[in-house]
Amino acid sequence: MTGREGATLLVANRGEIALRILRAARRLGLKTVCVHSQADAQGPWLELADRAICIGPAAPRDSYLNGAAILRAAVVTGADLIHPGYGFLSESPDFAEAVADRGLTFVGPDAAVMRRMGDKVEAKRAMIAAGVPCVAGPDRALAGDAEEVLAAAAETGYPLIVKAAGGGGGRGMRVVRAPGQLAEAVAICREEAERFFGNPSIYMEKFLERPRHVEIQVMADTQGRAVWLGARDCSLQRRHQKVIEESPAPGIPAGAIADLGARCVHACEMLGYTGAGTFEFLYEDGAFNFIEMNTRIQVEHPVSEMVTGLDLVAMQIAVAMGAPLPVTQDQLRLDGHAIECRITVEDPETMMPAPGTISGLHLPGGPGVRVDSHLIRGYRVPSSYDSLIAKLIVHGADRDEALARMRSALDEYRIDGCGSTLPLLRRLLADPAFCRGGVSIHYLDGLLAGKADQ
Ligand code: ADP
Repeated sequence: MTGREGATLLVANRGEIALRILRAARRLGLKTVCVHSQADAQGPWLELADRAICIGPAAPRDSYLNGAAILRAAVVTGADLIHPGYGFLSESPDFAEAVADRGLTFVGPDAAVMRRMGDKVEAKRAMIAAGVPCVAGPDRALAGDAEEVLAAAAETGYPLIVKAAGGGGGRGMRVVRAPGQLAEAVAICREEAERFFGNPSIYMEKFLERPRHVEIQVMADTQGRAVWLGARDCSLQRRHQKVIEESPAPGIPAGAIADLGARCVHACEMLGYTGAGTFEFLYEDGAFNFIEMNTRIQVEHPVSEMVTGLDLVAMQIAVAMGAPLPVTQDQLRLDGHAIECRITVEDPETMMPAPGTISGLHLPGGPGVRVDSHLIRGYRVPSSYDSLIAKLIVHGADRDEALARMRSALDEYRIDGCGSTLPLLRRLLADPAFCRGGVSIHYLDGLLAGKADQ
């Protein structure tokens, strides 16, 4: 690879994250190439790239998931690095391997580490070895033998959850509340695991009834050093999709988070992990329970940027180019409180997709307010992709100030011409339980279903 100044980074993604990566790459003085589908030929983020190159039709499998087409674009444009963003090919070890085989740099961990973390049984084993707390349950895949499955369930205790080792996107999971439901749940889960993920391996763990979702952001360089960058609470979810995220996690003692962060750093060192990563936990009754590791940058990374004052995407690119981490754990300061709202193109009443052409746009601003969005007036939001159109992020000296800033920013924000979740977000920012902090992952679905229970 050429030196840092002369290097070219190819962005293999679209929308707000493509824009975010392009901004970071420009700041680092890199040349940029952005691949896009035919449906995204007018994507406003492409303006920021030195070169834009069409790689195929709208359907993701023909464009953003087409690794061969992306690699061809990289070779044609002389790219040195490929940043996959999130979603699409960001967690594909095969793609990461193909990039490395071409002598290019994949902005992310080594393919072998990705493959290991992509298998949840393997990941859990690695975490136990590193001293990261995991959900109770056997650290092995379930055997085919019915007696053995019953014995594993008795050891785990009910309720339990049967999960696909290769699972993702909240699919391939079954909750089992009594021994009588076990055989059928195992059979269905195994069948789904094979059908959705091409891997019949399944495992079981204790089912937690009212957990919060708390995750630790890490960053590791190629010299074997890693740091943790605070915790995020992402418990406000609708059908397993995160809606609001914040950092720090309200009401959890800083000492407990620091202990967990240090364990995650140790796990990174043991794994030989490099780049940005997230350790996801379910938090219940004062205990953290590891569920999975995401080996990429996440949608909600800006809240960590706001409390650390660091540009995580620029750091991710720099460490991929071999730079050492610019900070040590001791130098890191976690300052104030940050909240992110995800704004999606959905009808706020029916929650059905509601794409359209942006006819009017008014962005909020002022101290501590940040908008990550690719929308401009006149842009037609395509229906082929993820519904995320904007992220509104605020920072305050404490949680109350952040909440107040988010309320006024949401009031100011206007997006005309398509449906958006702004009305839902305004409602949530006025919700007493959310404002108190610490609701469980089931709270929002319950609220939307008309149940007051959290
Ligand atoms: P995926 O990779 O499909 O997102 P995860 O393992 O991250 O799978 O789990 C997705 C969601 O399923 C979690 O956010 C949580 O809501 C629920 N879940 C997973 N494991 C458990 C568990 N042991 N107890 C309770 N809920 C769980």
